[in-house]
Amino acid sequence: MFDEYEDLPEGLLDASVETLHEILPNPALIHLKGDIAEPLFISTLLHGNETTGFYAVQNLLREYQGLNLPRSISVFIGNVKAAEKGVRRLDQQVDYNRVWPGTPHHYLAEAHMMLKVTETMRERNVWASIDIHNNTGKNPHYACINKLETSFTSLACMFSETLVYFITPKGVQSAAFAELCPAVTLECGLSGDASGIDHALNYLKRVLTATELGQHALDSVNLYHTVARVNVPELYSFGFEDDATINLLPEIENYNFKELPVGTPLAKIEPESSAYLQAFGEDERELGREFFEYENNQITLKKAVMPAMLTMDTQVIRQDCLCYLMERVPADKFPK
Ligand SMILES: [Zn+2]
Repeated sequence: MFDEYEDLPEGLLDASVETLHEILPNPALIHLKGDIAEPLFISTLLHGNETTGFYAVQNLLREYQGLNLPRSISVFIGNVKAAEKGVRRLDQQVDYNRVWPGTPHHYLAEAHMMLKVTETMRERNVWASIDIHNNTGKNPHYACINKLETSFTSLACMFSETLVYFITPKGVQSAAFAELCPAVTLECGLSGDASGIDHALNYLKRVLTATELGQHALDSVNLYHTVARVNVPELYSFGFEDDATINLLPEIENYNFKELPVGTPLAKIEPESSAYLQAFGEDERELGREFFEYENNQITLKKAVMPAMLTMDTQVIRQDCLCYLMERVPADKFPK
């Protein structure tokens, strides 16, 4: 389970992600009182090797040391055990961002924990929710939302002009909190990168001092909709060195947030292996044949799409996915 605190735990402002477990032995929900009672909820370290959110929150609280917070804050610090080891999750752990209310794995102990956190914040009249992440490929900083409503796009476009709307995977924090308040997931580029910490910190400061999530003009916003998650089937070896069954092309890392035409090559496959990529749609149906073409031992795009979170980190590809595929939402479909 998690521990709940009504004050800042001693030493938190000086801890590093690796030493955090000495102060917080378990996941922690920390409530700090501010002038406006309805709290801003911030969650960090749902993935133990994504440190930007923790350092942004730490810097924020340092700046407010001895001062009144303009609004109450509740901070959830998730996977402290994985953070100690610098990994997304320990082998025996579940993914802490797939077990929030809405998850198919609701029977798990971790799902009970996230349900309790969500219920606690519901009772406290949570005002807005921000979950902070990193990724491994070359991606711009962007914000994800799970509802196409103006309060959500307003909260999101205060962070970035690049927005992603998605409804799968299920069980993510922002989708659970979307039932309570405007909620976003921030993707802050590479973990621990100074520009990501600064960006997240400045964003948190702006949201913390905002009194309402008003109308932000969406004129310059690029809004994308996730249509599929791409996986390499477990039975195939893969890599970037031309020695596996599926040999991904190294240049794909530069394809994130680029609109790719039909025919764009993604991988070479071992002759006669009949290896393939899987693409799971929003209803978890396998749609690989809609997105990929197989010819001359090559995998190419059958549809014009835009990938996100493509990475060359083979462990991430195995533990999470190769990438997401997205389509642009036309301006006339934006929430009014
Ligand atoms: Zn993450």
